[in-house]
Amino acid sequence: MFHIYCPWCEEHREEEEFHAKGPAHLVRPKEPEACTDEEWGDYLFFRDNPRGVHHELWVHAAGCRKFFNITRHTVTYEILETYKVGQQPAKAPEAEVVTLPVRHELTEDAPDDVRVKVGGLS
Ligand SMILES: [Zn+2]
Repeated sequence: MFHIYCPWCEEHREEEEFHAKGPAHLVRPKEPEACTDEEWGDYLFFRDNPRGVHHELWVHAAGCRKFFNITRHTVTYEILETYKVGQQPAKAPEAEVVTLPVRHELTEDAPDDVRVKVGGLS
């Protein structure tokens, strides 16, 4: 059990009151109707799997019910900061993106560890 600081309530509350809602700062395509099906599908369904410091969108579900962002290290689970939606983080992401190959890329020759380092976030 640990505590998360809600920037709206301005106090630490038990983690069970919160839910992660995915990566923060996703940018919706300005003209969705101009996207290909693949581009729109990527926006809707596919997310990076960073290892390291990155930004996540959370909601204080059992509290004020407001959304906010967390800068968190995905390996150590350390929360470096929380900030309201619309604000910018003080800490930059420092993560490498780890992706799993899609099903059709898996073969009998695939190594046991199928994680592939794609590169760091900028
Ligand atoms: Zn709150």
